[in-house]
Amino acid sequence: VSQLQMMKQMMMSIPKDAVLINANENPLGPCEAARAAIASSANKGGRYDFFEMMTLMDVFGKQNNISPDSISVYGGSSEPLHYSVLSYTGPGKNLVAADPTYEAAGRAAEISGAKTIKTKLTSTYAHDVKAMAAADPNAGVIYLCNPNNPTGTITSREDILWLLDNKPKGTMLMVDEAYIHLSDAESVVDQTANRKDIIVLRTFSKIYGMAGIRCGFAVAHPDVLKKLEERGQNPMAITSCIAGRVSLEDKDLIPTRKAYIGQARMETIKFLTDNNYKVIPGSQSNCFMIDTGRNGRQVMAAMAQKKVIIGRTWPIWPNTVRITVGTKEDMAKFRTAFKEVMDTPVK
Ligand code: PLP
Repeated sequence: VSQLQMMKQMMMSIPKDAVLINANENPLGPCEAARAAIASSANKGGRYDFFEMMTLMDVFGKQNNISPDSISVYGGSSEPLHYSVLSYTGPGKNLVAADPTYEAAGRAAEISGAKTIKTKLTSTYAHDVKAMAAADPNAGVIYLCNPNNPTGTITSREDILWLLDNKPKGTMLMVDEAYIHLSDAESVVDQTANRKDIIVLRTFSKIYGMAGIRCGFAVAHPDVLKKLEERGQNPMAITSCIAGRVSLEDKDLIPTRKAYIGQARMETIKFLTDNNYKVIPGSQSNCFMIDTGRNGRQVMAAMAQKKVIIGRTWPIWPNTVRITVGTKEDMAKFRTAFKEVMDTPVK
């Protein structure tokens, strides 16, 4: 069964009024300025528009002190993530990734004929950069997600810079910063200016609330971006580019949303720990994990019965489920349902 078919089956079984805290989405959606920009740019939708794409790259470049030549815009970060793995891994050029982490890179590695070498997280749930550097002297790509999905935990800039200097010379480091603005993690996007062995990914799907609008960046040396471009090109939606740009220009967006989601996360985690549930500590993101002490898939199913759709387990931790931070109202419903589920003994 393809992923799309699985998704269709799952979506059909979800009641319309369910709380959706399963996919690390942002329930706040695009900001006001982005919504207005989308509406007002629809009339230009008959054109392939490169001007808005350039303007978006220009604004992002100026804000981050990056040359526009080092930025490529895509419909989300999934596309450059896949292209990077397909370009730099293959038989004998393996992928190194943490366990647990976001699995998209692993799926692309399967297609390229590479193996995925998994390294455990450290005792503080950071990436174990020493283990990653030593995992395979011929590694094609090391994938590092900061903050990590699903744990929400961060890896220090110091550690990532150490990894850059100590990984095998021919290995590409891909740093996925999808959730960076929800956390205090420090970006390493500046490293793309002088090196050809790092790709940084950003997306508008998380703090910017544009998962359904689709916009993201690959930031890397122009030669690296050219290699990704050879995998495929696709003109961007004008609505995505304009919504992305005005979101970048909205000075309040990051602090306001980071505070709102952070507060909802902390309130929920406080409830869970007060009730003696075991939370994986250290999340600074819009997701965190609970070790339920029982089969995680059964907990997911029991929660779904109560119309609260929570995230999944990872094979390394079959009892541990990922929870996305929704609105404060979503999290209130989650708390009630979770306690009811956990108060019901397993048969
Ligand atoms: N990277 C990480 C770590 C993610 O969690 C996701 C989506 O959940 C993505 C990348 C891909 O997101 P998008 O293609 O919407 O940018």
